[in-house]
Amino acid sequence: MAKIKFTVITIFPQMVKDVMSYGVIGKALEKDIIELQVLNPRDFSKDKHQRVDDRPFGGGAGMVMMYDPLAETVRHLRKQDGSIKLSYLSPHGKQLKQDSINQMAQQQHIVLLCGRYEGIDQRFLDEFIDDEISIGDYVISGGELAAAVIIDAVSRQIPEVLGDEESAKTDSFMNNLLGTPQYTRSDELKQEGVPEVLLSGNHAEIEKWRQQRSISVTKTKRPDLLDGESE
Ligand code: SAM
Repeated sequence: MAKIKFTVITIFPQMVKDVMSYGVIGKALEKDIIELQVLNPRDFSKDKHQRVDDRPFGGGAGMVMMYDPLAETVRHLRKQDGSIKLSYLSPHGKQLKQDSINQMAQQQHIVLLCGRYEGIDQRFLDEFIDDEISIGDYVISGGELAAAVIIDAVSRQIPEVLGDEESAKTDSFMNNLLGTPQYTRSDELKQEGVPEVLLSGNHAEIEKWRQQRSISVTKTKRPDLLDGESE
């Protein structure tokens, strides 16, 4: 799988960089298995105070991100890569599922736009946005955490990121199933409550047990996944 580049357009670049600096994703960035570019529309604002927001026409609560700095940012990006598709993190978007993550993992360059305030001038969205992605039916204060969710989930699909070809394949949702329960060493509990098969060393039996548990856990917690009703 080729290296994936993520470009995030945000007025809080450090927030995205910080979130992405931990754990397997932080290591993948350090090792250059994935690449993260962060562009701040303030740097493309022609306003003397580098403003990126203004009051909405017609009045109403809050501010709105302006067309001009965002348009300039995208034009700059298009000079780097003329084939970009621009995804806007938005509660209006299609709700994110593992299927879309798997499809995104086939792309080489993923560009994510984070809104702030009450959102973005509709004229910018109409002209520049290719799709809108929601992380769920609730509103958060900006697209940065949503972008981080996508970058993390997509990066897990690159085998070198987890350092183990199989890891992501056994994650919840990969086969419309939830993952299996896990157990590890405890000084206090010893081996109490650990299913015997996991201590048997019989890999075929362990695999069979995991498959069965995965199905039974899914039946109990998310039967909709088995019925194909989760869309
Ligand atoms: N006033 C907007 C509305 O009601 O639809 C919400 C704006 S929200 C406070 C600011 C930004 O957060 C949005 O432009 C979007 O980028 C991001 N955002 C909020 N909820 C989101 C969600 N569920 N999924 C993805 N992004 C979200």
